[in-house]
Amino acid sequence: MRLFFAILPGRHLAGTLHGLARPLTRRCRGRLVPQGSLHLTLAFLGEVAPQRLDELRRIGSQLPHAAGAPWQLDQVGSWHGGIVWAGASQPCPALDELAAALRSALAAAGFGLEQRAYLPHVTLLRHARQLLPTHAITPLAYPLRRISLMASTLTPQGAHYRELAHWP
Ligand code: ATP
Ligand code: MG
Repeated sequence: MRLFFAILPGRHLAGTLHGLARPLTRRCRGRLVPQGSLHLTLAFLGEVAPQRLDELRRIGSQLPHAAGAPWQLDQVGSWHGGIVWAGASQPCPALDELAAALRSALAAAGFGLEQRAYLPHVTLLRHARQLLPTHAITPLAYPLRRISLMASTLTPQGAHYRELAHWP
């Protein structure tokens, strides 16, 4: 199964993010990420044997609580490859520490991870055909209260995500 760890936005924040993304499709085209699929990825695992789920549940349950300040989303932009994202202009120590703790626990348990530096973002559009210069938005606080283990199923209409476990 295709798995990743993420922090999901609450309903209200998801609605705000989706409302922010909708008008961008006119400019960038591409496919709007459905409101219920918006998320912040912490670590992408890729294909994992289902027998290893218990290990992932243990790792999730032993994570430190990100009790600190929320992540402050204050800009949108895009990457080549058609991703339009919302992100932060400033680093967020609480988020960076949480992602680092998770990643080192996963690495210690032998899960393969991307070598690229972790770059927190929420994907708003995929397959965008027009780049969006990075620009500021009215800041949004993204709470870091709950971590989810997600399963992803790829379909021609886009990925479907399912929450398998969450902490707390
Ligand atoms: P699609 O691949 O069909 O565009 P998706 O990217 O939403 O859909 P997945 O590829 O299953 O679905 O990815 C799930 C999450 O993990 C997404 O947030 C995605 O950006 C992230 N992700 C996917 N691959 C990697 C990777 N190699 N490194 C870091 N994050 C990744
Ligand atoms: Mg993908």
